[in-house]
Amino acid sequence: MIPKETVDLILDTSRIDEVVGDFVSLKKRGANMIGLCPFHNEKTPSFNVNPARGIYKCFGCGKGGNSVNFVMEHEHISYPDALRWLAKKYNITIAEEQKSDEQQARDNERESLFVVCGFAQKYYTQQLHESESGKAIGLTYFTERGFRPDIIEKFQLGFSPEGWRPLTDAALQASYKIEYLVKAGLTIQNEENPDKYFDRFRDRVIFPVHNVSGRVIAFGGRTLKSDKKIAKYINSPETDIYHKSNVLYGLYFAKKQIIQDDVCFLVEGYTDVISMHQAGIENVVASSGTSLTVEQIRLIRRYTSNVTILYDGDPAGIKASFRGIDLILEEGMNVRVLLFPDNEDPDSYSKRVSSEELKEFIRHNTKDFIQFKTQLLVGDTQGDPIRKAMLIREIVESIALIPDSITRSVYVKECSRIMDVEEQSLLNELNKIRRKNFEKRKDESARKPEIQHPETTEHDGHETGFVPDISAKPEETVSPIINCEAQEREIIRLMLNYGTQQIDADSEDEEGRPTTVPVPLAELLVHEIRQDQIIFGDTAAQNIFEEYARLLDSGTVPDLNYFTHHPQAEISKYTIDMVSIPYSLSNWERHFIYVQTEDMILKNAALHGVYALKLRRIEMMLHENQKELRNAANEEELLRILQQTQQLLEAKKYFSGMLGRVVVR
Ligand code: ATP
Ligand code: MN
Repeated sequence: MIPKETVDLILDTSRIDEVVGDFVSLKKRGANMIGLCPFHNEKTPSFNVNPARGIYKCFGCGKGGNSVNFVMEHEHISYPDALRWLAKKYNITIAEEQKSDEQQARDNERESLFVVCGFAQKYYTQQLHESESGKAIGLTYFTERGFRPDIIEKFQLGFSPEGWRPLTDAALQASYKIEYLVKAGLTIQNEENPDKYFDRFRDRVIFPVHNVSGRVIAFGGRTLKSDKKIAKYINSPETDIYHKSNVLYGLYFAKKQIIQDDVCFLVEGYTDVISMHQAGIENVVASSGTSLTVEQIRLIRRYTSNVTILYDGDPAGIKASFRGIDLILEEGMNVRVLLFPDNEDPDSYSKRVSSEELKEFIRHNTKDFIQFKTQLLVGDTQGDPIRKAMLIREIVESIALIPDSITRSVYVKECSRIMDVEEQSLLNELNKIRRKNFEKRKDESARKPEIQHPETTEHDGHETGFVPDISAKPEETVSPIINCEAQEREIIRLMLNYGTQQIDADSEDEEGRPTTVPVPLAELLVHEIRQDQIIFGDTAAQNIFEEYARLLDSGTVPDLNYFTHHPQAEISKYTIDMVSIPYSLSNWERHFIYVQTEDMILKNAALHGVYALKLRRIEMMLHENQKELRNAANEEELLRILQQTQQLLEAKKYFSGMLGRVVVR
């Protein structure tokens, strides 16, 4: 914990031009400074720093913020770590709250494990290059596999010699404690007889596993024997510094390129990562030792929201990629897939072809997940309507996992085209599945209420990867209609994220003929909300709406930064909630094929949002109306209320129709 006064001191001392200046060469331009954006590739500078305001903003990629945001974004570290980083830069001492003895001891122990692993890595590498058996067996193997010397060095590959405990003995000799060797998973000790111990890795080539900052935390070892009884690969066990589900092999070497290319390749194992590097493709990681986990996906999300799965085309590889696809979609990220031809994996393929050919192959064969699933499954559905229906369902089930409604509709459109089915029937199916998933999650969270309340599941949908679809939620299953919060949030979310995007609004020309004019999306939203004089129930939402509308009236379309840096904490917090969702239009501009219809999708999303809000308000009024009906004092009042009911029901029918759904009641 950093004390409040120190935080304030750090914020007051930090100067945005100095902080950015550590990484970007800045030139003065008027009151601002300008340079090449460190967050995306560009040749002409669009990265602006405003020293007076203490903020930066890139007009190319849209990133912006203050000093702390910059350090967080650039170094990929947390808020407190960014503060520590700045404190160090400005020589500010942080009197952190005292660590407990226990905490201190744990920190020391973790550090000891790092140190022991570092020793082991150096030992194995030295064995590979200097010992007779290392050179004759290990190095020869790597060389025959086609690994270049520079690559062997870069990945710090090694060799564990034959014998019961050469590593352990060398470590003990160098005064390392057996306790830590055991805790790091390098030495296996007999519990009853502590004098009996031996090395975990014996007679194997060694692949060290690095954490994000490049420290060795674990190892994988491959046997060179063809004996089927010996496990081909063994790996370090879980330790205090190695939690398999939180580690991606190769991330340390890949992160820079992942950011630069804005995509991460996901492969199966050590050799795939290494071979791809050798072929000049460095944005590669592997979930070695486990099947892909949510934590690993979130790790990738710190660098990009685009993942391409590169697996081999055997049934196991395909199954793994199916699972991976759904996990990645559920985290709100974009996923594409590349299957290698029969009996090839990225490792073998990259060995067989030139680096250029490999890149070309990846460029031409990467498919989005719908194309991928279709292509795999369509072969045996030819002319069989039942199997075709099953395939469609399979695809729609994946689409249903995507948290963002706009992205979902992009995929529904694509699926409709490829499979040649009506969009509406896909939407119906989609809503059914989402409703079912929603119910399932509600049940699950009801069973463990101490962890997750149903309300929080609904409210913080992005946290759990699930945002309830307004149109898909049958009112009966939801608590009585109390507010329009979710619908209001959607309007504000669209406004903040996409408000400046141009769409074609319906209009009339001078002679009264129908035509369209380009307007910012926010214009449409403001028009629709004002038309019905809607006041948002949530004050932050209302304030954002009013301020946005006021700026629009005065002829400026406000940018997001205006709201993320808003002096009213309530507004900036609401905004950050609405925009810190890891997908963005620019991503699908780059990665999807439906770019030409993007404005249509946006417009539909806006209209959908507006109608959903209006419908919800009508439902609330009807609810009130029913209460009044029960309490009506006389015939006259009764009649008036009934008339009102009638009008409301008609409006409900109208907006339900607009929403493209049928009123059942
Ligand atoms: P071969 O030379 O026979 O192709 P390989 O070393 O390439 O062997 P594969 O069986 O092809 O290994 O497996 C591909 C990748 O999967 C390897 O790079 C390895 O990292 C990973 N892998 C396989 N089994 C394991 C395991 N038990 N633990 C961790 N990683 C594994
Ligand atoms: Mn292989």
